Amino acid sequence: MPRPIHAVIHQPALANNLDVVRRCAPDARVWAVVKANAYGHGIRRAFAGLRGADGFGLLDLNEAILLRELGWQGPILLLEGFFQPQDVPLLEQYRLTTAVHCDEQLRMIETARPKGPLAIQLKLNTGMNRLGFPAGQYRAAWERARTLPGVGSIVHMTHFSDADGARGIAHQLEVFEAATANLPGEATLSNSAATLWHPQAHRAWVRPGIVLYGGSPTGVEADVAQFGLQPAMSLHSELIAVQELAVGDTVGYGSLFRAERPMRIGVVACGYADGYPRHAPGWGDQPAPVLVDGVRTHLVGRVSMDMLCVDLTPCPKARVGSPVTLWGQGLPIDDVALASGTVGYELMCALAPRVPVSVATMSAPETRAEAL
Ligand SMILES: *Cc1c(COP(=O)(O)O)cnc(C)c1O
Repeated sequence: MPRPIHAVIHQPALANNLDVVRRCAPDARVWAVVKANAYGHGIRRAFAGLRGADGFGLLDLNEAILLRELGWQGPILLLEGFFQPQDVPLLEQYRLTTAVHCDEQLRMIETARPKGPLAIQLKLNTGMNRLGFPAGQYRAAWERARTLPGVGSIVHMTHFSDADGARGIAHQLEVFEAATANLPGEATLSNSAATLWHPQAHRAWVRPGIVLYGGSPTGVEADVAQFGLQPAMSLHSELIAVQELAVGDTVGYGSLFRAERPMRIGVVACGYADGYPRHAPGWGDQPAPVLVDGVRTHLVGRVSMDMLCVDLTPCPKARVGSPVTLWGQGLPIDDVALASGTVGYELMCALAPRVPVSVATMSAPETRAEAL
């Protein structure tokens, strides 16, 4: 008798979202970013939906090896590069493309003397100030990389801080163009936001992550509504109890919700130990949304470890066993994230290992019928 909570990964949605990226960036090849266990979806499950990509971008060597074991022969990019000299032979063994963002990594390649050819993406810091060579040192880094034993192709790489925001990318693009002027080689600059909104930065390869999973780079679902993205993850549970509240009754830890009228509430088998955000409010003007019996309602009270409570006023027929959708399929994950002060990225990545996951290989309506 398993707890009724479960997540579904929708493979047709992943494939659809990759098509959306292809339409937005028709001349670029696509690194499908599958870091963090494919944003919580599972590398193996995501790979089945995204195998039409040109390459996969991730951070973790074990995830890269898993892709090779799944039969992926194409390029794999280590977005943060490698960390120790002993990693260099593994790059060769598994034919991994690596970001190189600092002198220490160049020195490690020099010491390891790979036979090559090693494909590298030389990272330029254009203003994010996280990884990358400063603009003034980039040309020297490129010259040095080119002469290192075993180094084959060198792609110019940078990352945008505000492709989804008001500041935009112009200031970083200017630095990129100045620093790479007259240097041969392809370039890769664009995360999801730049892929959707800044075609002038597409270049040879784009690097979308969040949009492949159906999330919005801005955290606001309406911003991506016209692109036809579909949610790749949905989280479902059921009501396991119903309570009738009288005026003045409170709900949950800290008594943060107080009934102002008689009302029915439902108790859902889902809590923060499942990855649901504890900060999701069940009080105030903008309580977090949830679907019960397919009807949109909202949280009441504080999310606890294993349960959360919902207002049943809009769904009077709901009873124990009624289906609940926490996100995906009719309820954008970004709506839940926004109410909780975060972004869809974080919710996807936080899906807890205790939640059973199934894979839908058919399109959404059929899946829904199965899930119910
Ligand atoms: C995570 C990441 C991406 C993808 O970002 P999204 O906003 O999810 O599209 C692209 N490039 C690099 C270097 C990253 O670390």
